[in-house]
Order: sequence, then C-alpha cells, then structure tokens
Amino acid sequence: MNSDFSGLGPIDLGDAPTPDGPDRSGPVSEQGPGARIHAKVIIVGSGPAGLTAAIYASRAGLEPIVIGGYVPGGQLMITTEVENYPGFPEGIQGPELMELFRRQAARFGTTFADADVERVDLSARPFRLWAAGAEYTADAVIVATGASALWLDLENETRLRGRGVSACATCDGFFFRGKEVVVVGGGDTAIEEATFLTRFATKVTIVHRRDQLRASRIMQQRALANPRIGFRWNKQVVDVLGDDVVTGVRLRDTVTGEETDEPTDGLFLAIGYRPNTDAFRDWLEVDEKGYLVVHDETGSRIEGVFIAGDVHDHRYRQAVTAAGDGCRAAIDAERWLEAQGIPETTAAATAR
Ligand code: NDP
Repeated sequence: MNSDFSGLGPIDLGDAPTPDGPDRSGPVSEQGPGARIHAKVIIVGSGPAGLTAAIYASRAGLEPIVIGGYVPGGQLMITTEVENYPGFPEGIQGPELMELFRRQAARFGTTFADADVERVDLSARPFRLWAAGAEYTADAVIVATGASALWLDLENETRLRGRGVSACATCDGFFFRGKEVVVVGGGDTAIEEATFLTRFATKVTIVHRRDQLRASRIMQQRALANPRIGFRWNKQVVDVLGDDVVTGVRLRDTVTGEETDEPTDGLFLAIGYRPNTDAFRDWLEVDEKGYLVVHDETGSRIEGVFIAGDVHDHRYRQAVTAAGDGCRAAIDAERWLEAQGIPETTAAATAR
C-alpha cells in the first residue's frame, strides 16, 4: 500500500520515431553503469513542466532526454481527478494525463531515463549529470524536478507508512472501503484528498491546526456540504497509534494544549510540498523556502541551465502553469542553443 504505479504498465510509444545512434537504441534507462550519454538538451523531471519541455524540445529537433525519476510523472501521479486542465471538460485522472503527455513527447523523439539524478556538475559545458550509474552530458539542461509531499516526521508515522499512513489518497484510498480515516491539512490538497476518500471511507475527519481553512472557497464549500466529512479544528497530530496497523491518532489542541486520542483506520497527510532541489542547490540559487530562483524568465544563474515548474513556482503550482513554464523553458533553451551554434537535427526540424 504505497505510491506504486507499476499497474500503469510500460508506456506504449505508439508510432514514435526510432531514435538514431548507439545511445538511442533503446530506452536510455537501460544503459548500464559506466555509460556516457550526450544530448543537446537534458530535462530533469517528468511532471507537466518536464514533459511539456520535452514535447517542445523534441518538436524543435533537439532530441531531448528526460531523466524523469524512478517514479516518473510528478505530483499528478498522486492526484485524483484533474478538473481544471483545459481540454478535458469531463476531467481526467492525473496519471492518465501524464501518460498522454509522455506519449506525446515520445512521438517526437524524446527518450526517457526513469532514474533519479543523483548529482550534477554545472561548472563547465557540456554540463554533467549522473543517474543510475550512467553519466550524461548536455549542452543545455532544463530543471523541472517539481516538489514532493511533506510528512509530519513523527516516528510512528514513518513506521506505519503503508500500513495505514499515506500521502496519496489516489493510490491508497481503495484500501479504506467501509473504514474511517483522518486527513491532515487545511489547503486544497487536504480538501481534495478528503473528498476523494469519501468514495471509500464511511467517515473522513479533516484535522487542521487552525480554525480556518486555507483551501479555495469552492473546495471548502464542497467539503462542508459533504455529510461524510467532519472537521477537528485547532488540532495537531502529535502521534500515530497502532502496533501493526494504524488504530488512531493522538491530537493536541493548538490553543489549550490538551491531548486526546482519536480512533481511525487511516492517516492521510496533505500538508504541502518541498521543492526537489537536492542535486542542484549547490549550483543554483534557492530562495528562503528552498525553491529555485529564476533569472530572465526561465533562466538560472548559470547560462544554459533553465528552470521550469513547481521547483521554482510556489505561487501558482498548477499543472497548466507548470506546462506553460516547460514550454517557455524549452523555447528559451532552443534559442540559446541556436545562439551557441548548436543546431537542431534536420530530420526532426522538418517535422515542425
Ligand atoms: P498548502 O501549502 O496550500 O496547504 C498546506 C496545509 O497544510 C495548510 O493548511 C497548512 O496549515 C497545513 N500544514 C502545513 N504544515 C503542517 C504541519 N506540519 N502540521 C499540520 N498542518 C500543516 O498546500 P496544498 O498542498 O494544499 O496546496 C498547494 C498548492 O496547490 C496550492 O496553491 C493549492 O491551491 C494548489 N492545489 C490546487 C488544487 C486544485 O485546484 N484542484 C488541488 C491541490 C492543490 P496552515 O493553513 O495553518 O498553514
């Protein structure tokens, strides 16, 4: 019971063009340790920003490689119904949307390495990146690593992860059919997760540390009108109870300090995100919240390194804004490469 997306199966590349050259003879991720692979553009991250950058860069004939993480797809992979992505009037499931993005990028010649970038050297060009034992070099890099869900960092929360504790209602909600669950948080994610969980759970209790929600008005109204959703205001989860599985949570009143135990079968965390900058923060500028800082639209303080999506954007954090950002970064990278005299390939360029 965790964020396991293996059920999606391998990505069907459909009529994707067969990539040229020895480095592109199969999925890049199959390159063994010690391999050296060069690309004009390497995109790190495979959420809406990374994959939109890949669509644009591949249509521009730049034959990008996406190093997309061991669990590719970004935050939309742990999102339920996406109702606000234009073009899907009935809504679409987050994982399905990401599969469509990926297929579209593959169609124009993007290749994928489903591995995490462990470290980078951006001191000179070509830039160097290491992932799963292989060394990648790139003339330009687009960082689109997104942001990850936060946890409360309680000992028993960690111990009981996958045994009642989760940060992904989409992945794990099914296991709580006929049960009662607690959701922590007061933002849109908490409300969205709680609403989704009412499909399975008989009772969903939102525990929030204040007496006012941060979520948007429409989401609040939806939750307040849902008879299966209840609220525990001014409460913080200070412990998770249970030996083998979650049986309850200990709550502390943030006003009085009083502690009470609340029985529950599951605990879902929805308290926000942390930008994924580990491999880059020694090289690129970060702000006080740890997000990357952009210069001149999508650039960074290193020429040839571009930034897109939630890894820098803590204001909008939407799939559609991330996708727009990925488009901008790819266009900026393309223009920059052109100025450096690094051309697109003729065959792909004619397909534009
Ligand atoms: P937010 O940062 O908006 O909210 C996080 C919530 O968790 C806050 O209510 C915060 O409390 C609470 N919190 C944070 N840390 C702790 C902690 N240690 N203990 C207890 N509670 C904690 O994050 P979201 O993930 O909800 O949303 C992120 C962005 O994504 C937002 O811009 C949101 O609008 C957007 N979004 C939009 C959706 C949609 O439109 N369908 C769906 C999901 C997200 P406090 O309020 O006191 O700070």
